[in-house]
Amino acid sequence: MSWSSSAKRVKPSDSSVCPPNSVVLFAGPCAVESEGQFAEVARCVSDLGLSWIRGGAFKPRTNPYSFRGLGEKGLAIMADAGNRFGLSTLTEVLCAEQCRLVASYAGGLQIGARNFQNFSLLEEAGRVCADTGKPVLFKRGFAGTIAEWLSACEYLKMAGASNIVLCERGIRTFETATRFTLDIAAVPVVHHQSDLPVCVDVSHPAGAQHLVPPLAKAALAAGADALMVEVHPHPASALSDGMQQLDLHQFETLVEELRVLAAALGKTII
Ligand code: PEP
Ligand code: MN
Repeated sequence: MSWSSSAKRVKPSDSSVCPPNSVVLFAGPCAVESEGQFAEVARCVSDLGLSWIRGGAFKPRTNPYSFRGLGEKGLAIMADAGNRFGLSTLTEVLCAEQCRLVASYAGGLQIGARNFQNFSLLEEAGRVCADTGKPVLFKRGFAGTIAEWLSACEYLKMAGASNIVLCERGIRTFETATRFTLDIAAVPVVHHQSDLPVCVDVSHPAGAQHLVPPLAKAALAAGADALMVEVHPHPASALSDGMQQLDLHQFETLVEELRVLAAALGKTII
């Protein structure tokens, strides 16, 4: 079943957040922790010639006693660093009420896995993106089928969002060797059924640093239009997801390797 008017893949237009023949890297820390921490990552991302930085200001945590983000202060830190280093910023909205606030600071909105069927959030995010022209990155729920994900995406479209990136981020299976099972097949399946660009978040399914580079290469080879990678100056002391975040040196090495692979595929990492 196709969720677009045509089952044929249509390349995203130039105005899309994912231009043709490019692979967008949404890199950055799991959470914005401080001005210094975020600026260190932003400098690295900018020096590598990349265009986007990610970071969580409102963090959806399984345990409410964990670090839940700096909130609006985190949004301000992201916006400042984005301006300073010439980067677009992507950050998560947890509820409908946050959409306008987040859009007033960030370059793009992220809807997280835990909210993929929060339809009132999707409608409001869609309206805010329609009003502001900002893109929205829409993650698959970890217990959601591809059909449910594409169906939920219609809420964003119906509300007027036109710059949507779908993001596979791993699903729950019986396998426990990885944090989530990365559904690589989701990339070609979605490309066959939708004209939207597909991002693969390789950090959250990995759950461990050493798994991030091979998953990133696999996603690129499968045709991903974008990748999400968590990067932290000192992963061992990160306030969330320390095990899976690459340090700056590991990230630089990965980008170099991805550039070689991307060139072979006729694509550029941006
Ligand atoms: C994130 O990207 O910060 C995040 C919380 O991811 P997910 O919603 O995929 O768990
Ligand atoms: Mn994280």
